[in-house]
Amino acid sequence: MSISPRPPASETVWLTEDRPDAGELGLCVHCGFCLNACPTYYDLGVETDSPRGRIALMRGLDDGRIEWSPRVQQHFDQCLQCRACETACPSKVPYGRLMEATRAEAFAQDKWPRRQRIIWRLVMRGLFPYPGRLRLAGYGLKLYQKTGMQALIRRSGLLKRLSPKLADIDALSPNADQPFYANREAAQVAASHPVRSQAVLITGCMMPLAYPETHRATVRVFTRNGVSVEAPEAQVCCGALHAHGGDVEAARDLARRNIDALTPESADPPDAILINAAGCGSHLKEYGHLLRNDPDYAAQAAAFAARVRDVHEYLVEIGFESPRGRIERTVTYQDSCHLSHAQNVRSAPRDVLRSIPGLTLNEMRTPDRCCGSAGIYSVVQSDISRRVLAEKMEDVLSTGAEQVCTANPGCMLQLDAGIARFDDSGRMMPRSTHAIELLDESYRLGDAATTD
Ligand code: SF4
Ligand code: SF4
Repeated sequence: MSISPRPPASETVWLTEDRPDAGELGLCVHCGFCLNACPTYYDLGVETDSPRGRIALMRGLDDGRIEWSPRVQQHFDQCLQCRACETACPSKVPYGRLMEATRAEAFAQDKWPRRQRIIWRLVMRGLFPYPGRLRLAGYGLKLYQKTGMQALIRRSGLLKRLSPKLADIDALSPNADQPFYANREAAQVAASHPVRSQAVLITGCMMPLAYPETHRATVRVFTRNGVSVEAPEAQVCCGALHAHGGDVEAARDLARRNIDALTPESADPPDAILINAAGCGSHLKEYGHLLRNDPDYAAQAAAFAARVRDVHEYLVEIGFESPRGRIERTVTYQDSCHLSHAQNVRSAPRDVLRSIPGLTLNEMRTPDRCCGSAGIYSVVQSDISRRVLAEKMEDVLSTGAEQVCTANPGCMLQLDAGIARFDDSGRMMPRSTHAIELLDESYRLGDAATTD
């Protein structure tokens, strides 16, 4: 099929340098191999909610054949950005990049309803970039849970009657019963083995509040394996949620702050920049692309991105110590979309799980199908998200597992909500876990057995 020459930017619907790349749009040959991989095509059954259909919409906008109507925008909004279509695509269409570029244009051109824009600015620009404000919000959640308010409100069904959206947010709220993670804690864990590499840990925005134990386990596991870990205080949210939503200016600002905080020009760079959250990891690996046109940061951003390692990936790379403590449990592993489809890290988490004595890994039928979390998708597209989760939970429950293991805080929150809603047997542990926590548990059980 021939592709007509692209008109100059001033004559197209695109207004910014972030617009989808015409060459990349042209890679799609309409073969349809991606359709069955797409959760929204499966759920909604219409071409315009498939990868091929959305690319056709982008091309229609690009060559001026279609108007950017609210209906077109809705098809873009309904994409989970799970990138399962990239794995399925024989033509290697970089769908994730194209959708991020389209959303960047939508954001720049104010294509969202006014209410959505106001909420975005308040939450994503006013809260997420500020660790202190987030922590305050976390303490508010702690209070809400500790005083029994949350349990009471859930029992009364009040939130559902007031606003189903608020009830969805409440169902997805993390259990804030553990002390929040403080970055200075990393420096307090001394390497117990000779140090063979230096790493910095990106602690992120939500993880220190929602899953502080995952960070504690990460630092213990790496120091045990001879990696000295630091978590610089000045780091901020990685900006993945901002980039996925189209707010690239905020994403760029956060990326520059992290580059300055984690790889200052005045110091030797770390051997690895570690991340235990898949969505953040895939975005951090894209910092080079994000800042490609920034003359002050382009080179530093590319060097930064090249050092980013998912924790499972780095454990396998350095050859981690085999754990000895037995954990008699059956687990199933959910591939986080941004670890499997975006970073192509699939075997390393399984290698970690299979190394644990006593642990049985029962695979799902489709472990790399999205759970419906997708950043803030579970809140803004809650109906589709709920149906995608129902499908996922059927798969999870059919494995007979007692616990589900995954690699991203959003997926953990979504799966926890799924267990609460769908596990009638009560067989499953109410909280999902991260492979690094299981590895840490096994190390500690092994140590305790030796001491006894
Ligand atoms: S990113 Fe996921 S939801 Fe979006 S088109 Fe691709 S497969 Fe479908
Ligand atoms: S598989 Fe790739 S080339 Fe084929 S329709 Fe989907 S995106 Fe286009």
